[in-house]
Amino acid sequence: MSEFSLSFNEDQVQIQKWVHDFAESVVRPAAEEWDEREEFPWPIVEEAAKIGLYSFDFFASASLADSSGLTLPIALEELFWGDAGIGLSIFGSGLAAAGIAGSGSPEQVIEWVPQCFGTPDKIQLGAFCVSEPDAGSDVSSLRTNAVYQEATDEWVLNGTKAWITNGGIADVHVVVATVDPALRGRGQASFVVPPGTKGLSMGQKYKKHGIRASHTSEVVLDDVRIPGSCLLGGKEKLDAKLVKARDHQRTGEKQPAMATFEATRPAVGAMAIGIARAAYEYSLQYAKERKAFGKAIIENQGIAFMLADMITEIDASRLLVHRAAWLSRNGGYTNAEGSQSKLKAGRTAVWVTERAIQILGGYGYTREYPVERWHRDAKIYDIFEGTEQIQQLVIARAISGLRIE
Ligand SMILES: Cc1cc2nc3c(=O)[nH]c(=O)nc-3n(C[C@H](O)[C@H](O)[C@H](O)COP(=O)(O)OP(=O)(O)OC[C@H]3O[C@@H](n4cnc5c(N)ncnc54)[C@H](O)[C@@H]3O)c2cc1C
Repeated sequence: MSEFSLSFNEDQVQIQKWVHDFAESVVRPAAEEWDEREEFPWPIVEEAAKIGLYSFDFFASASLADSSGLTLPIALEELFWGDAGIGLSIFGSGLAAAGIAGSGSPEQVIEWVPQCFGTPDKIQLGAFCVSEPDAGSDVSSLRTNAVYQEATDEWVLNGTKAWITNGGIADVHVVVATVDPALRGRGQASFVVPPGTKGLSMGQKYKKHGIRASHTSEVVLDDVRIPGSCLLGGKEKLDAKLVKARDHQRTGEKQPAMATFEATRPAVGAMAIGIARAAYEYSLQYAKERKAFGKAIIENQGIAFMLADMITEIDASRLLVHRAAWLSRNGGYTNAEGSQSKLKAGRTAVWVTERAIQILGGYGYTREYPVERWHRDAKIYDIFEGTEQIQQLVIARAISGLRIE
């Protein structure tokens, strides 16, 4: 158990500076180009791999082995300060890795998590595939199914996944599927689909409002056959869980996708804070330089107070994110602190970036300046990894102990 502290340890200070330098010198200058191209920014991810930021080692030391829980949020805030679309291209594999770490055995983690990153010479990607065209927030309604074939010790997966980050271009796809639809969320399991498996293909690639450098597409699973060993957690554990669920007993286990989302929510909140901070810093500087009515616009309370509120919201959001990140590693949440942190950080990012456009006026509305991009990027933080309303639902249920609908 580590102490909760507002000061970072020496390693964290160094990591913060290291990631910030990379974000400032490599990510930010490339942001506009990859937003316009709307393509996965391979050269930038390669640069990140070269310095070890895109690597299994960094993922493991910053998340799996960090007892304070804070190193990952610290790093993500800096990276996403550089650019969120590129940031998600660098961190998207981390979600698949978290899915494996959340449900897999230690042997499966060792086998598959490094393959989500590859090496600087041969970069690999991971994708975490939960959502479907008819099941986004309502994860318990997944239709993608997995059927076990005892004779060959194989699982056969069929279905379509929607809005998958790195979908179809990833090497390792982690797929959440139902093995017993009647049990809804309790009848689901997570599977690794290894690189090059036949039957897995990319469906439509989505054209998006923001984070346009990040690749998002459908993943089609057509009779995808994978070895029995690709069931995360193993068959014995799954069978025991299904027996309990069928007996209408509470298994005490969370749905696999839900367990991953809960653990990653503070990290996602940290990404949103990175975007908000970028917009705040930019608009503060602009307000000091832009003159109207013979003086800098910041000399008007109307502008200065807006900036005062922006920094206050950002700092409040970061405190919630760091609290949740620490709790997730040190005793767990008492209410729904992970959801609280993500809800607040997402709203802050949307609000702060919108205010930044206001401060830049007409210039802020054009693509000549980055604030409109930051505003487009920020909106996803109200939507993915649990929408605003789903976070409210989780929090409301946690504080009331009731099944709020
Ligand atoms: C860019 C992008 C990347 C993504 N990456 C991934 C990924 O890598 N892997 C993955 O699995 N998924 C991914 N997603 C999917 C994302 O998690 C879902 O879009 C999200 O969970 C919302 O689901 P939905 O779009 O079906 O919305 P819906 O569930 O249809 O919700 C629509 C609206 O109804 C509201 N609503 C729904 N239920 C309730 C309720 N009970 N009470 C109150 N309001 C409710 C929602 O809050 C929302 O406002 C991604 C999405 C995007 C856009």
